[in-house]
Amino acid sequence: MLNIHLSLNEEQKESYIELLCSTKFGNGKNAKTVKEKFEEHKVFFGDYSFEDIVFIEPEKINGLVEELEAKQPQKDALKELFKYDKKFQPLIAKFFEKNLNPRTCYYCNIDFINVYDEEENSKNKFTLDHFIDKGSYPYLALSIFNLIPSCSVCNSKIKGRKPFYGDKELESTNPYLKSFRFDEKVKFKLFLHKNCKDLNIKSKADIEIPLKENYSNEYDKYIKVFKLNERYQAHKDIVFEMIKNAELYPESRLKELQDLTGIPYQQIKQDIFSLIDDNADLSKEPFSKLKRDMACELGLV
Ligand SMILES: [Zn+2]
Repeated sequence: MLNIHLSLNEEQKESYIELLCSTKFGNGKNAKTVKEKFEEHKVFFGDYSFEDIVFIEPEKINGLVEELEAKQPQKDALKELFKYDKKFQPLIAKFFEKNLNPRTCYYCNIDFINVYDEEENSKNKFTLDHFIDKGSYPYLALSIFNLIPSCSVCNSKIKGRKPFYGDKELESTNPYLKSFRFDEKVKFKLFLHKNCKDLNIKSKADIEIPLKENYSNEYDKYIKVFKLNERYQAHKDIVFEMIKNAELYPESRLKELQDLTGIPYQQIKQDIFSLIDDNADLSKEPFSKLKRDMACELGLV
């Protein structure tokens, strides 16, 4: 639903490689880091270095998969190599805490997945979803731009191991992709039930807030997979509250408040309706997209 803005500089990349190499696999003299083990598979990976694979850009992931799959990879050996196991999980999560600091799920914008402190140690509420399933494509298990900080509902309960790669409608929805324009193309719309034509909305049961796409249906399957319409149904009260507020504070009332308090009209409006700035990062608070789209529908912005 929302794009992830993460670009890594050389120092950040180095720190990621360092943390991946901080653990050794195997016993005694034969113990090797994942990068050392990668060298044993050099023939398979050809010109790709370990770094190329773990920092493969989102735009190039599908091409990489196509190229490597054509070589008929030995999946079991690669699963052993790119093991996203209990040793790595917390380390990689720490990397995301530090370099992205996610606040809400990028798939749904419903749940908080924030970082918090517990006895001076940071903890987090996110899971890392492998956008392209690591079971089928194990060489992407540690690739940063294949890891999506998300809530456990979206990750485990809903997406699970659904094959996003190879599905034309879904493989282009990696939130790191610049071409993923869900927020721009799909908007929450406000519909009133037939029985309240006069805008006399008495309860949340009188409204519907479906996600609608203009001029295309590029994201229909995405909306269905993550059950976004169904899940947002349970939060219609947020919109109902906005409608009630809009009734309580029409333009004339806002202007009166400006005259009374000397606070600029726009500021009062912003505060009363908790309007979200055009340039705000919607991922920082839950329901930001819903609230911003609805402010549009209600003519508040
Ligand atoms: Zn979610």
